[in-house]
Amino acid sequence: MPSQPVLSTKTTAIQEMENAHTSGVYTKRPLAIVRGEGAHLWDADGREYIDCVGGQGAANLGHANPAVAEAIAAQARTLISCPEMFYNDRRAEVEQKLCQISGLERVFLCNSGAEANEGAIKFARLFTGRKEFVATMRGFHGRTMGALSATWEKKYREPFEPLVPGFKHVPYNDLEALDAAVTDQTAGVILEVVQGEGGVRPGSAAYLEGAQAICRKRGALLIIDEVQTGFGRTGRMFAHQRYNLQPDILCVAKSIAGGLPMGAVLYSSRLGELPPQVHGTTFGGNPLAAAASLAAIQYLEDHHLPERAETLGTRFMEQLQEINSPLIREVRGLGLMVGIELKQKATPYLMALMAQHAILALPAGLTVMRFLPPLVIASQDLDQVVLAVRDVLTHPIAERE
Ligand code: PLP
Repeated sequence: MPSQPVLSTKTTAIQEMENAHTSGVYTKRPLAIVRGEGAHLWDADGREYIDCVGGQGAANLGHANPAVAEAIAAQARTLISCPEMFYNDRRAEVEQKLCQISGLERVFLCNSGAEANEGAIKFARLFTGRKEFVATMRGFHGRTMGALSATWEKKYREPFEPLVPGFKHVPYNDLEALDAAVTDQTAGVILEVVQGEGGVRPGSAAYLEGAQAICRKRGALLIIDEVQTGFGRTGRMFAHQRYNLQPDILCVAKSIAGGLPMGAVLYSSRLGELPPQVHGTTFGGNPLAAAASLAAIQYLEDHHLPERAETLGTRFMEQLQEINSPLIREVRGLGLMVGIELKQKATPYLMALMAQHAILALPAGLTVMRFLPPLVIASQDLDQVVLAVRDVLTHPIAERE
């Protein structure tokens, strides 16, 4: 068996090189991923995995999506960077497309989810002349200082205080608490349609639509953060489109450009005009990301991936709900954004899925197993995931060791 030691040396060498220089802020798994295709990933030792991490939401289109890869390659040969002091053909097209699919009229292009939320916070202050924000408990909006101020989790916030003043956090799905918190000083209410990092917790229609009514009544802007739920993940192009919601500001990123870094703040023209020079970023609206995004959105539409997420996600969730395990507290989600809340910590079970079944999934908080497979995943792969989850959750970890 000469191949085994040689192969594991590859992983070890990559791990050692990264460990020598990486910042250390990420908890890493002992796995070096070197290749992907659709919903499958391969490690440096040639082992194949079914991917339900989905680039933490950036891989809705599947890994190495051929349409996105082709668009990136063609644009890379044409023009990669072009600051917004000039007009650009690809940027013009992607701005038009993003506005068309969101129903909003204006867009600021940036490079990540946190940056989109930073923009939203600044724009909301400018548009309303107010300083305060209401966000939610278990909400996650990113790690930069403004986005972090909207994020709830203490362990992300506390080491970096003081954060931006003026943020209140209220329980999610609690309309009374929101009603009490929003005042005539509130610039914006920032909400996820499904709380992702906070444990895959869908907002109810009554809550989300009620939140919009409260915002309208008090003159606060409704800021919907669809960084994780956008681009087909929950069964619609955007999750808020399932409800009677017209956000004032919509923040998107992750799968917007088929896996390339990009974000966007979309907003309604009824908010008014932003004065020149109040915001900006060097890489925002670069032609490479714009071309990738155009190809990604086209692919989502042509291959009906939102509908696919709805069908596959409904079936996946039903199958998971049938698993009879005393470890499961609840199975919940929307489309192909699915969580299994356990009565114990999720990590040992995620590790067992990886080691024993070659299936990659991620946690959401301490006790939730989260599944964000690429929307191109085959239904047979999802069936395999169900069998594997059933196996690990019907053999409590303590019994295995
Ligand atoms: N908003 C939501 C809802 C997210 O899920 C995330 C990332 O997980 C972010 C914002 C931050 O995005 P990024 O990591 O691209 O900064």
